Amino acid sequence: MLGQGRIIVHTGDGKGKTTAAFGAALRAAGHGHKVAVLQFIKGNWDYGEVRALAACPNVELTRVGSGFTWLAEDPAEPRRLAREAWQLARELALSDRYDLLVLDELNCAVAEGYVAPEEVVGLLVEKPQRLSVIITGRGATAELIDAADTVTEMRCIKHAFTQGVPARRGIEY
Ligand code: ATP
Ligand code: MG
Repeated sequence: MLGQGRIIVHTGDGKGKTTAAFGAALRAAGHGHKVAVLQFIKGNWDYGEVRALAACPNVELTRVGSGFTWLAEDPAEPRRLAREAWQLARELALSDRYDLLVLDELNCAVAEGYVAPEEVVGLLVEKPQRLSVIITGRGATAELIDAADTVTEMRCIKHAFTQGVPARRGIEY
């Protein structure tokens, strides 16, 4: 038993939210804790971390989403996929099979209006006590910040991308 789980939020406009969450997943897995990672997908890159964690025992990774939502042919598709991801998030959280659940980019699904802030806080109240949850993405809501134990804002001071350097394999994805 791991005792009381933590609610951790990584938000802000700087780099490091997702990579820090994956680092935490690795740390937990190294101690033999059971980890589930669910990604609410924004982009459709060939992410290195997805490949690496697929080979990692104790970590189950699932990705649900439509890539670039504004390119979806059916405008109802992004919402449907986000709801599907949210249902899965609930099942993973309530299954009591995990010690750590990472909900990567959930904040973006909330910002798009696909998941209500009350639903997120409701699940954090309902979840098994021992489960820790890490939620990432820009624009964390006040409700989520209130409910969390630890909130870190990654603040962008500069980013190579805004200086005309394209996203690089192994660094950005
Ligand atoms: P990472 O996945 O590198 O930890 P992140 O999760 O903090 O980044 P997101 O908001 O999810 O960042 O952005 C997704 C992509 O945009 C990533 O490839 C990330 O490296 C890049 N990115 C992050 N911050 C910035 C920024 N301030 N300007 C431009 N691109 C950024
Ligand atoms: Mg991210």
